[in-house]
Amino acid sequence: MMAAAPERISIDNLREDLPMSAQAVELLFVEDSETDVELALRAISKEGFAPSWRCVQQESEMREALSARLPQVIVSDFTMPRFSGVASLRVAKEMAPSVPFIFVSGTIGEERAIEALLLGATDYILKDNMKRLGSAVRRAIAESDERERARVAEEERRRLVEIMEATSDYVDMSDPDGRRTYLNAAGCRMLGITREAAIGAQVLDNYPGWARDVISREGRPTAERTGLWSGETAVLDATGREIPVSQVLIAHRDAEGRISFFSTIARDIQERKDFEARIRYFANYDALTGIPNRELLADRASQAITHARRGGRFVALIVMDLDRFKLVNESWGHRAGDELLRDVGERLERSVREGDTVARLGADTFAILAAGLARPDDVLVVVRTLRQALRTAFHLRDTELHLTVSMGIGISPRDGSEFDLLLRNADAALHRAKTAGGGTFQFYAEEMTRDASERMELESDLRRAVAERGLEVHFQPQVALTDGRILGVEALMRWHHPRRGWIPPAQFIPIAEESDLISRIGEFALSEGSRHLLQWDHSGARPLRLAVNLSARQFRSADLLESTRRVLQSTGLDPGRIEFELTEGILLEKRDEAIDILRRLKSLGVQIAIDDFGTGYSSLSYLSELPIDCLKIDRTFVQRSTERERDAAIVQAVVSLARSMSLRVVAEGVETDAQARFLVHQVCEEAQGFLFSRPVPGSQLAVLLREPLPQR
Ligand code: C2E
Ligand code: CA
Ligand code: CA
Repeated sequence: MMAAAPERISIDNLREDLPMSAQAVELLFVEDSETDVELALRAISKEGFAPSWRCVQQESEMREALSARLPQVIVSDFTMPRFSGVASLRVAKEMAPSVPFIFVSGTIGEERAIEALLLGATDYILKDNMKRLGSAVRRAIAESDERERARVAEEERRRLVEIMEATSDYVDMSDPDGRRTYLNAAGCRMLGITREAAIGAQVLDNYPGWARDVISREGRPTAERTGLWSGETAVLDATGREIPVSQVLIAHRDAEGRISFFSTIARDIQERKDFEARIRYFANYDALTGIPNRELLADRASQAITHARRGGRFVALIVMDLDRFKLVNESWGHRAGDELLRDVGERLERSVREGDTVARLGADTFAILAAGLARPDDVLVVVRTLRQALRTAFHLRDTELHLTVSMGIGISPRDGSEFDLLLRNADAALHRAKTAGGGTFQFYAEEMTRDASERMELESDLRRAVAERGLEVHFQPQVALTDGRILGVEALMRWHHPRRGWIPPAQFIPIAEESDLISRIGEFALSEGSRHLLQWDHSGARPLRLAVNLSARQFRSADLLESTRRVLQSTGLDPGRIEFELTEGILLEKRDEAIDILRRLKSLGVQIAIDDFGTGYSSLSYLSELPIDCLKIDRTFVQRSTERERDAAIVQAVVSLARSMSLRVVAEGVETDAQARFLVHQVCEEAQGFLFSRPVPGSQLAVLLREPLPQR
């Protein structure tokens, strides 16, 4: 036995007789016998290894060798003069725990061998069976390689998990059935749930319905086909809030090509969405007032124009400018000017109908787009509400400011079927309105301005007249043709205009119809008529019937029934003495609804007359379905009945038709004796006309009641 210094590893001690394909292996021998080392090397080389080695004999040398570099395998003797195998094993476990450790021993007993293995030795070889060492080394190396691979893989996995846990993106994995198997920390944070709650749950449960659709209809199939899908969806957090995400869905396949799991990486894009929305907002909205800008107006106008063209409707573009706005800026400063513009924008927006657009075009110019108008001058309703909205004073600092505006109006299609042209024309009209001194509006088509301003003026005068009792009801008698007795009166509205004098109902009733005034006028006619009826009753006259005209809008208005009931109740009049007159045209529109309204009116006990009968187109069968009481023959037939055969025939036909249906007949517009005589001949019982009396004030009618009219 000899003590040898540990041999430094070198390429020189490779055995030259080894095949080129021999596998290099680096060994550390803990061995005092050179011969044993030789034997061992031989066995190892036989196995196809090209060993390089170092050899140590005691602990200090062993420690030095191991800290210099780790071998691939340690081969240690069990009993040595200056070192024990067990101690050697302990050093190996301490300094090179992953290196396989093989005992080679001459006298190892069964028990010691087991003990050695328990201590962590990889294998043991008996010296008299040294040839087994080669395969033992091979196995040990294979095992340690395998362990190393597993360790590296585990290390890699740990790092990946670390990365996934550290990333701010949502990362999850799920099995092919959609059950979640992993959710990273950012995912838990995003959803606001614990990992325990996340694992095992259905991933799709954390998506809103629409996103679930996108994923199952598009995302999964694409990922299954191509391996990967990306798109924008949203997830739901624990409170049910939708978080928009940009997500990638990956289908992972195993070695056999089956999908083994899915993973999802999702990024919260709320901020980007908000940003995009802000960009969109700034591109479409005016920064000062927050209302749409010209761009958005152009968009909406183009849409409205196309839409209106299809429906045979009209679009109005009103361009509005504040009068003397410069003065505001000059006397109160720009800050105050801005504030005023904001207020104006706000008021305008609040006053328009839903679907109409208010925009700011620049400086103190606004535009209002009114879409889907049935008739061009319906824009006047809009003009009126806009003015109304600006009428009350604005507060600038501690000053009250009354603002007037000028407006230019373009109507599409007549003033342009493209936004640019329409705007240009509305602008031109605005210019005219401003040169006229402000406070007014102009249509691009000048004749429309004339008509419209006239109507606007009349309308506001009429409104005042209604409020200040400037309207009067006159009464025209309806008489029995045979003896001239007055059977009833028709209430006819009269308006004495302070400047224009008497304005005929044919002019102001249509204006009242288009505003909300008609209902008030109608209720006035009924209540004022009833009041007179009671007065005449008191004076001892025979009870008269009161005929009151109903216009289309009144007839359809929701409160007709209620206001009639109210008047009947407050006067205590027998409802049978009230007769509503309405034209055929009113009843022809929306027949079912019309019949329904008629029935309800009838249920109050009032009577119904068809006015201007003969001018409409109602069929006889339709007429017979209606719950009516009286036909009023239109005055054109009555007046021509003595001149034209055809009209005489019509009057005759109406009278006999009425008789067959048990309806009363009143002939209207009787002006001559000849007409009256013709009617008597036709056995028409009642008539109304200048021949008997013009419409007169209530007081005059009282006189007529005392002096019976001439008999025929
Ligand atoms: P209407 O219901 O056909 O009324 C009869 C019209 O014929 C009245 O015109 C009356 O003055 C006129 N008239 C009567 N006798 C003669 C005659 O012998 N010859 C001629 N040429 N005309 C005669 P008025 O008062 O101008 O009323 C016109 C229309 O205004 C009425 O036609 C009615 O449709 C409407 N109207 C009047 N007052 C009211 C009302 O309170 N409410 C509603 N909704 N409409 C009313
Ligand atoms: Ca009438
Ligand atoms: Ca009439």
